[in-house]
Amino acid sequence: MLSDPCLGVSALAFDRVAKEDVYLRSKLPHVGTTIFTVMSKMAQQYNAINLSQGFPDFDCPQDLQERVSFYLNNRRNQYAPMTGVAELRQQIALKLIDQYGCRLDADHEITVTSGATEALFDAIQATVSRDDEVIMFDPAYDSYDPAVRLAGGKPVHLRLQQPGYQIDWQQVAEHINDRTRMIIINSPHNPSGSVLSAADLDALASLIRNRDIYVLSDEVYEHMVFDGGQHESVLRHAELREKSFAVFSFGKTYHATGWKMAFCAAPAAMTAEFRKVHQFVTFTSTSFLQYAIADFMRDCPQHHQQLAAFYQQKRDYFCELIRDSRFVFTPSAGTYFQCVDYSHISDLDDVAFVNWMTQEKGVAAIPLSAFYESPPESRVIRFCFCKDNSTLEQAAEILRRL
Ligand code: GLN
Repeated sequence: MLSDPCLGVSALAFDRVAKEDVYLRSKLPHVGTTIFTVMSKMAQQYNAINLSQGFPDFDCPQDLQERVSFYLNNRRNQYAPMTGVAELRQQIALKLIDQYGCRLDADHEITVTSGATEALFDAIQATVSRDDEVIMFDPAYDSYDPAVRLAGGKPVHLRLQQPGYQIDWQQVAEHINDRTRMIIINSPHNPSGSVLSAADLDALASLIRNRDIYVLSDEVYEHMVFDGGQHESVLRHAELREKSFAVFSFGKTYHATGWKMAFCAAPAAMTAEFRKVHQFVTFTSTSFLQYAIADFMRDCPQHHQQLAAFYQQKRDYFCELIRDSRFVFTPSAGTYFQCVDYSHISDLDDVAFVNWMTQEKGVAAIPLSAFYESPPESRVIRFCFCKDNSTLEQAAEILRRL
């Protein structure tokens, strides 16, 4: 029998399974490989500057790396507790009081997960049942819709409104019914860079008041709000916090997307259900990273305190560099993404345009249509600016000539 060492199954067995069509009965028939993987691979293949997938090209803080090495070398290599290392959950609880004035019970309301992607998935599986409806806003981060479908639920895609990618709360009200189980919000917003206001959260709270509807609040870019704005977390909102899963990512905050470390804060009863899923998705997350992050949070709070200024500088620098280009844009209010309209440059659709730009011109970006259930006609792409200034300069040199 032939054996394929990569698959770990015999080639013969694989062939038999394929013939029985098991692989054709897809639970996600319309899903392909994510746009982030596609564009990063293309950037590599064509040796293009990669402003597509969101990750920094600079490293995480040296002080954090040293703590990671320390715990890796000092016997923190076995399973962490299912809910997360206690020291880390306590540091998270302290930070949430400090930032949002929200006092959470570290033992019953905070869970460490393997990335925000896992936390989003767990919250959806824990809450959404067959035929439940989940409202989300396009352009929407790509993992929400498939996670809802895998739970047997029905994604209801509403469009953010122009100008500024705002939620139309009247439209939301018109789509709420007895089957609505969850509303997913994301602020600061990937890909548009818009942010929700306190008035937005009030509008959401009044719509779900006295209803069995939960909020999944994706706040992974919490520390990247610019121009003196404040991040409006659901944890700051007395009413919403009682019905929300709030999701945060250490990957974004500590420039360490590859670690896949995050957490979810939710009321105890919701957390109990969340953990029932978490314990069978990953059970627990990497132990030495948790100890290291806990120490770093305690010793170096200045890191996240200066993050908004750090990324605002990058946004301003990138926007200044491409100001004289033919791209049209409004500077992002948050995140490390900048959307631009390229209709003065090309008539190509956005996928064809980023393919051309990556392959022929040497700069990769993300087409905005990837974030829509039914993409609009507009010609908009997303650049990621969490890059060294030299990378931004090299990219802008090319972009100015388009
Ligand atoms: N969140 C990142 C982005 O928007 C990508 C994450 C991923 O590759 N799945 O670019």
